[in-house]
Amino acid sequence: MAEFDVDLFVIGGGSGGVRAARIAAGYGAKVMVAEEYRMGGTCVIRGCVPKKLFVIGSHVHDEIEDAVGFGWSIGQVSFDWTTLVANKDKEIARLEGAYTSNVEKSGARIVKTRAVLEDAHTIRLATGEKVTAKYILIATGGAPNHGPIVPGIEHVISSNEAFHLKELPKRIVIQGGGYIALEFAGIFAGFGSDVTVIYRGDNILRGFDEDVRKHVRAEMEKRGITILTGRTVAKIDKHGRDFTTHLSDGSSIASDQVMFAIGRHPNVGGLGLETAGVAINPANGGIQVDGWSKTSVDNIYAVGDVTHRTNLTPVAIREGHAFADTVFGKRPVQVDHATIPTAVFSQPEVGTVGLTEEEARAQFSHVDIYKTDFRPIKATMSGRDTRVLMKLVVDGVSDRVLGCHIVGDGAAEITQAVAIAVKMKATKADFDATIALHPTASEELVTMRTPSARHVRQAAE
Ligand code: FAD
Ligand code: NDP
Repeated sequence: MAEFDVDLFVIGGGSGGVRAARIAAGYGAKVMVAEEYRMGGTCVIRGCVPKKLFVIGSHVHDEIEDAVGFGWSIGQVSFDWTTLVANKDKEIARLEGAYTSNVEKSGARIVKTRAVLEDAHTIRLATGEKVTAKYILIATGGAPNHGPIVPGIEHVISSNEAFHLKELPKRIVIQGGGYIALEFAGIFAGFGSDVTVIYRGDNILRGFDEDVRKHVRAEMEKRGITILTGRTVAKIDKHGRDFTTHLSDGSSIASDQVMFAIGRHPNVGGLGLETAGVAINPANGGIQVDGWSKTSVDNIYAVGDVTHRTNLTPVAIREGHAFADTVFGKRPVQVDHATIPTAVFSQPEVGTVGLTEEEARAQFSHVDIYKTDFRPIKATMSGRDTRVLMKLVVDGVSDRVLGCHIVGDGAAEITQAVAIAVKMKATKADFDATIALHPTASEELVTMRTPSARHVRQAAE
């Protein structure tokens, strides 16, 4: 008789858990996956995918406005939020089905229930059943932060609810200055809502390159989004179907919805981590793991947002894959978390890979900056008041391109390709040797010849 019921028990059917389950099953392991909500996890059900569909839909507004300059006359246009949500739900249900069948086809078994740890080798299902496993993978993801607890917090929605609103809000207040706040600000504004973003610091997108932060803010403001910085939400009052949001500076804003997008926390609560001896990383509140995604317990691993390392889908997938290769495929793989490209699907979009100017200047003695800020060709005819930012951060000693930052249409798509060069440690000379592809916006990346700034740190006396 086998010592354990399964070789691998995966808790969480999201990006990381699904990839690990399928790859491990492919190596011949007996695998069970528990999912308490919907297969596909945050990214598929209420994250990247429905968000991108909303972004695409909201961008149509710009296309219609821009069309006039190209000779189109467009009559009465109207938008129906209910149709958008229904069609999005249909597509998400299709993807959920595809995720389920792909896992099942791999030979892994799905149990649609909550699972928690009973001890290092035993999982307890909400059905009362117990399963023993040689290895356990925790891939439970994360959830929106609800705090700070202010009066009226019960009226506030998070991104989870934003995907299922019955009506498009005419006016919405969004607290936060990160990915989700800015992406939803663009979505709602594109569909015609009056949007106010409240951010506690001096400028949105903390941690991004300073030029990117300034550029995105200015462009969002040009699109009519109000961005109030140096303030927080202090209280929310509800009157019938309307809300009044009171801010820390004493001012107030009327709206039909109030949304907080103030970060996410790893799903570690009530999982039985203490009983199994799985340690939490005191620095970030996620499950503590080593370079192999192994927790403090030898046979228990954790991947994705629950470890609170880099909370992005491709990272969770790569970590899940590396875990399965290492433990079941006898092919030890560690995930390299350096130089991960990322995009904020705000409007305009941000694409970034590698070091910001500020990070590079702190780490390198000689940093050259190549920067351009220009009117895209489409705007010359559409008349839209918009500019694109492209910036390369270069090590002046080795000539290596350390970072690339783009704000403008297509920024995410361009950045994915540039990330290959940056990851391969391409030099500025390699960029210069590449012939431009004309007419594109991204040709600027290979035609910037003169540094716009040169920062040389004097050696200490
Ligand atoms: P998840 O995908 O969250 O999966 C965890 C799963 O575990 C969930 O399905 C949950 O129901 C289940 N679960 C939890 N506890 C239990 C339990 N005890 N028992 C059984 N099941 C359990 N990333 C990008 O790269 N690009 C984007 O454009 C992007 N957009 C995003 C937009 C939004 C609005 C949000 C919220 C996130 C976005 N992300 C994006 C981040 C991305 O969704 C996550 O990084 C990714 O989903 C993490 O994958 P995961 O496997 O770690 O966790
Ligand atoms: P972010 O960390 O991106 O942004 C959180 C924002 O909320 C920051 O502006 C932060 O301010 C602010 N904030 C935090 N705490 C408070 C508070 N107590 N009061 C007021 N403001 C506060 O988190 P998001 O929720 O936007 O997204 C979560 C994560 O999901 C992202 O970090 C990313 O990893 C992932 N994601 C990725 C996407 C993509 O790849 N396109 C899209 C959406 C999400 P401050 O900067 O001052 O700390």
